[in-house]
Amino acid sequence: MKKNIKSIKGMNDYIDKKLHLYNYVIEICKNILNKYCYKEIKTPIIEQTDLFKISIGNNTDIIDQEMYSFYDKGGKHLTLRPEGTSGCIRSVIEHNLLYKDKIQKLWYFGPMYRHENTQKGRYREFHQFGVESIGTNSIYIELEIILITIKIWNVLGVSRHLKLEINSIGSIKEREIYKNKLNTFLDSKHNYIKKYYKKNYKKNPLRLFESKNSNIKKVLKLAPLLHKNLSKKTLLRFKHLCNVLKKFKIKYYINKNLVRGLSYYNDTVFEWKNLSLNKKNTVCAGGRYDKLAYILNGKKIPSFGFAIGIERLIILINNLKKNKTKKTTIDIEIIFLDNETILESISISEKIRKKFPTLKIFINFSNERTKKKLKKSYENKVKMVLFIGKQEIEYKCYSIKNLKNKEQKQCTYKELIKEISKLFF
Ligand code: ATP
Ligand code: MG
Repeated sequence: MKKNIKSIKGMNDYIDKKLHLYNYVIEICKNILNKYCYKEIKTPIIEQTDLFKISIGNNTDIIDQEMYSFYDKGGKHLTLRPEGTSGCIRSVIEHNLLYKDKIQKLWYFGPMYRHENTQKGRYREFHQFGVESIGTNSIYIELEIILITIKIWNVLGVSRHLKLEINSIGSIKEREIYKNKLNTFLDSKHNYIKKYYKKNYKKNPLRLFESKNSNIKKVLKLAPLLHKNLSKKTLLRFKHLCNVLKKFKIKYYINKNLVRGLSYYNDTVFEWKNLSLNKKNTVCAGGRYDKLAYILNGKKIPSFGFAIGIERLIILINNLKKNKTKKTTIDIEIIFLDNETILESISISEKIRKKFPTLKIFINFSNERTKKKLKKSYENKVKMVLFIGKQEIEYKCYSIKNLKNKEQKQCTYKELIKEISKLFF
């Protein structure tokens, strides 16, 4: 019995226009990061499960419910990476990259995996373009990184549609003390909150502040607030960053409820949100993570970074309907007139490729009639068609058609080369 095998839920194929847009966005991100002299880092998609458990931390959505984990044939517990920062830091420590250059400015790009409830903008395989600045706790690196995100939005033409939200969530220690205070408050509202929030919110109560549920919002209006529980030093640091952003005329909004889902963050956190969407509207998220290297390896390596959700960015650009992506065009299409001339067609295409390495040459292998093939060549905006039949081979005389002025002519190989030069160079 034949099985109709389909793709896995939450995993997308990238074809045609969608692929063009995807490649276009990635290319722009890469170019900008290269100009800011950030270096690419490429780490494996599969890592030891412990890496994520330790870095992301228990009681987070990712660790508790979203990881694609399995035992390999050697009995090792492995996981498809749900995010890129952990692998990046692991690699920097493992290869002692900070020995030579005390600050590593890196970017990465690739697929991430989370077993989530899928909806528009939320998939099980998605792609992140991430940037990490590893080795400094300067607020000026935070400025540089935010400036990079702004540059990306400008070049992509989406700035008007995005809003920068920032917050300070204090040190991990400060947050722990606050968490206990919050839990004491929530204990008194336990039954009420449980009605709306089935998961055990007590493990990570800060995330309740991100809830859109109006009843939970009502309860939290009376709750102790994180920023009121932060130290003077933390608040000053945040103020300093805000002043620097103002100096650079960067428009930002302080969202005191912004806490981020991963537990390794401290002090500054930020998100870029799509103004035109209510749900799943964060296109880019990041923050400071000074303790991540320490909990992984005992090394103190203050760091700051972000990740762009490429799918969400593509949704935003698609909604604008005037994206500038270019389709790959065909310069010369080779149409063989009968099957016996396939080999000659391939051989001549290779000769032309050698002579004109920049040209895009397409050999049409379909069995459609020549007329139909030609019709499609017009649709695909092919510039020149080269017909190769038995006669053409016998008399070493090729038929070419310029699809712009519709001129068709016979020519020798030498003349063919001349015609190509004339048309394309
Ligand atoms: P969310 O609150 O939307 O679940 P998150 O806090 O889990 O996001 P991060 O781990 O910070 O997200 O990832 C950074 C960015 O990656 C997000 O802002 C988003 O753009 C994108 N992203 C995260 N999860 C998904 C997903 N399942 N599908 C598509 N994009 C995603
Ligand atoms: Mg999430």
